Amino acid sequence: MKKILVCGAGGFIASHLVRRLKREGYWVRGADQKPPEFSPTAADDFQVLDLRHEQACRAALAAPGGGTFDEVYQLAADMGGMGFIHSAECEIMFNSGLINAHMTRCSAQAGVKRYFFSSSACVYRDMHKDEAELSEEQAYPALPDNEYGWEKLYAERMAMAFGRRYGMAVRLARFQNCYGPEGTWRGGREKAPAALCRKIAEAADGGSIEVWGDGTAMRAYTYIDDMIEGIIALIHSNLENGVNIGRQEYVSVDELAYLIAEIAGKKVRLKHVSGPVGVKARNFRAARMESIGWKSRLSLREGLSRTYPWIERQVLATRGGKSMVVCAG
Ligand code: NAD
Repeated sequence: MKKILVCGAGGFIASHLVRRLKREGYWVRGADQKPPEFSPTAADDFQVLDLRHEQACRAALAAPGGGTFDEVYQLAADMGGMGFIHSAECEIMFNSGLINAHMTRCSAQAGVKRYFFSSSACVYRDMHKDEAELSEEQAYPALPDNEYGWEKLYAERMAMAFGRRYGMAVRLARFQNCYGPEGTWRGGREKAPAALCRKIAEAADGGSIEVWGDGTAMRAYTYIDDMIEGIIALIHSNLENGVNIGRQEYVSVDELAYLIAEIAGKKVRLKHVSGPVGVKARNFRAARMESIGWKSRLSLREGLSRTYPWIERQVLATRGGKSMVVCAG
């Protein structure tokens, strides 16, 4: 049976990934500094480890029966939405840098055959909203808008270097903004779709919510199920170097907020306030993923129609001082 290690398995994307890999029938170990928050892990074995340390990476990579993991998915990172990325640049570069340095080298030295790394659309420069979509090689000459993007770019290069020296097949996904049930929805690390769902769930019909910036920044969002299918397709492909995974459905922040309000069945007014916004636009091609048969299937409306009710349930469950967490249905 194939043995798989998923790092960051206490987090949003990797906990969904573990569930998907278990459905394939693989033996899966999850590793993270904390277990998943919203439902029990589906992994056969879950190790609570601080992966910034070499010994912790070696412990995670010690496969049962003394063998080697066939595949490692590295999704552990100190990360969050724009608010976090702008306020925690030192933590991001230091913590994620250490995790990636140790996990990449330890995996290569352990003889892992396939190594997946979750990079980000943040490796690209800022864009104007009407600019043509960027393809992967246009990450160079590099000019990421934030330190999170620079750390991802460096980690990509490090993984490729270790892959070359040790004969480890490295697959690098540049994720677009991903959303869905069981993603962080409060606490300062949440991303725009979850933050807006929460604000709208908390708002009265006819009330107002605060939106950072002037609401014109353009983004595209990818539903979690599409992202997971992309990860699986990419690791088993022969696509080398960075590969974009994302849906090409572009909306402004204001359009996103109004769409969520419509799904919630509420009328809300948007109050624009100053706050970290990030790049003006981020348009990228998914032609390489499409060349291996992947395509995003869920529209933004469909994805938000699955996400909003989950966040609304979290909001209702935590009202009145209750700290109960409701699992996704
Ligand atoms: P997440 O924060 O939900 O998951 C990351 C996990 O890493 C968390 O569970 C966290 O506890 C764990 N982690 C952090 N530091 C650790 C440490 N020292 N030791 C062990 N575990 C540690 O984030 P996510 O949204 O699931 O993102 C997963 C990956 O995808 C990350 O690498 C992220 O940068 C990348 N990514 C995500 C998005 C997105 O929109 N969610 C977009 C681009 C890239």
